[in-house]
Amino acid sequence: MSANQTEAFVVHLYDYSETSRIIQFLTAHRGKMSCIAKGVHRKNNPWSFSLDRLNRVEIFYTWKSTREVQTLTEVNLIDSYPELKRDIKKQVLASLILETAFSMTETEQKVLKTYTQVCKAFEHISNSGISSEHAVFLTCCHLWQILIHNGIEPQLHICVRCGKPLKEVRHFSFQGGVVCENCKSDKTLDSEEVRGLQLLQYLEDPLNIPYENKAFLSLFEKKILPFICSFITFHLRHPLKSYNVFQELNHITIQGVNHEKQN
Ligand SMILES: [Zn+2]
Repeated sequence: MSANQTEAFVVHLYDYSETSRIIQFLTAHRGKMSCIAKGVHRKNNPWSFSLDRLNRVEIFYTWKSTREVQTLTEVNLIDSYPELKRDIKKQVLASLILETAFSMTETEQKVLKTYTQVCKAFEHISNSGISSEHAVFLTCCHLWQILIHNGIEPQLHICVRCGKPLKEVRHFSFQGGVVCENCKSDKTLDSEEVRGLQLLQYLEDPLNIPYENKAFLSLFEKKILPFICSFITFHLRHPLKSYNVFQELNHITIQGVNHEKQN
């Protein structure tokens, strides 16, 4: 058994006993990791505040390779992202980014780039000057980068089935990217979707994009985010829970607006 330290995001928490919880972390150096936090349910336990979903923490733990669940020995809060948690939509978007990164990561896998991307994404989205509509656009940018770090970003220039270079992009296969008119596709892209995807591909710094344009932001909310989430779901082979929540949230908001209009 050895003592270790790492930085981590709190992904899931489960009650284990009356006093203990199991926490799933995304760590930079060990990928997915589960730890037991003993006594965390006891009154005035200093860890209970730090161990909240979406928090970024420094953890100390004892490691045993034969164990699936490690033992937490110390927790220090780095950031609890209060700005982000104040806005339900931003919170769900942050969950979506973390869930994607976590789902693509194995245990015992070094994922420095993915981890750093999540840090950057949370920093961008939690900025109080960023609207929740703008946060959707930023989420698309960061999800795209996470796909790149995992080597599965959609190919947008050559047919992924026959290798033919494409001048005009129209058809798409969730297997890997665009396809020519002769190969089997899952979806036809409209010109707006193509424009949005190409922008993501060449974007170095998402904060450099002027975002006042409502039509631009609505494209990312209505078409690009759903598209990227379908792509991710296809590759993970399971649905993204946070995206389902995001859709429900939008549905409620739209219904609420219609209801207000009627009155
Ligand atoms: Zn082809």
